[in-house]
Amino acid sequence: MRIDLHAHSTRSDGTRTPAELVADARRAHLDAVAITDHDTTSGWLEATAAAHEHGITLVSGVEISCERDGRSVHLLGYLVDPSNTPLATELAKARESRVTRLERMVARLAADGIPVTYAAVLAKVPPGATPGRPHIADALVAAGAVATRDEAFARWLHDQSPYYVHHYAPDPVRAVGLVQAAGGVAVLAHPFTQTRGAGVLTDRAIGELADAGLRGLEADHPDHDAPARARAHALAARLGLLVTGSSDYHGAGKTTRLGDNLTDPAALAAIEAQATGAAIVRPERR
Ligand code: AMP
Ligand code: ZN
Ligand code: FE
Ligand code: FE
Repeated sequence: MRIDLHAHSTRSDGTRTPAELVADARRAHLDAVAITDHDTTSGWLEATAAAHEHGITLVSGVEISCERDGRSVHLLGYLVDPSNTPLATELAKARESRVTRLERMVARLAADGIPVTYAAVLAKVPPGATPGRPHIADALVAAGAVATRDEAFARWLHDQSPYYVHHYAPDPVRAVGLVQAAGGVAVLAHPFTQTRGAGVLTDRAIGELADAGLRGLEADHPDHDAPARARAHALAARLGLLVTGSSDYHGAGKTTRLGDNLTDPAALAAIEAQATGAAIVRPERR
């Protein structure tokens, strides 16, 4: 069984539509894929239809942008009830604050002579998508200022950049509570990522999240080197958490490919057993 539990579509900063993402998963010979767009569940319906069409198992989820001590922390919420009001309200609040944040980042960049306009960035945000820094990166690529998203992040868009502006984001303890109350299963995304704010969460802080209802750690992730993976596996074992593996696929927006890391079927079975918010989509194989 090939299971990849973290992927983005054009409903956030991926470059493939939800249907294309599912088709890509089939092409990558996955048995199951999760759609986990940033701060939105709007891609679920389209992905579900595509899962039926392609005969692939779909795990619907969301990647919630959280903040602790001014640093970014990502929380995956699998199989939440998308109509749960407290969760949906929080996600809508985050998406709205991302709009003004984008405008403020663009103003700072433009004031420094970097060739970008708010209109050019908006043109890169697909309809209904959660706007993010990768869309600014896409506008910078279109303007010829940089060659890739990666280069845009390295030069101007990274978390420590003077052009960086925060958006509203809940504390991870609050987000874990919201996922749990919405019937979902909370898994901490790439907990030890080096490239985007290393060491945000201590083992002790992750223990506190476990006490709050966190169920798993995304141990195998492209941003994790071997020591980070080992640390995540050991910490999960100590805290009684499940471990997942995933690619964090963004289509052409990142170099990772679907299936680059995989999740054990037993971990997916545990997620399914704990979830009450939404069901896994399991079409008949074709
Ligand atoms: P935002 O949600 O607007 O704060 O942007 C963060 C998102 O940008 C992350 O979730 C990644 O998907 C993406 N990202 C972060 N670093 C890079 C990078 N170096 N290259 C491409 N995309 C990145
Ligand atoms: Zn992303
Ligand atoms: Fe993430
Ligand atoms: Fe992600």
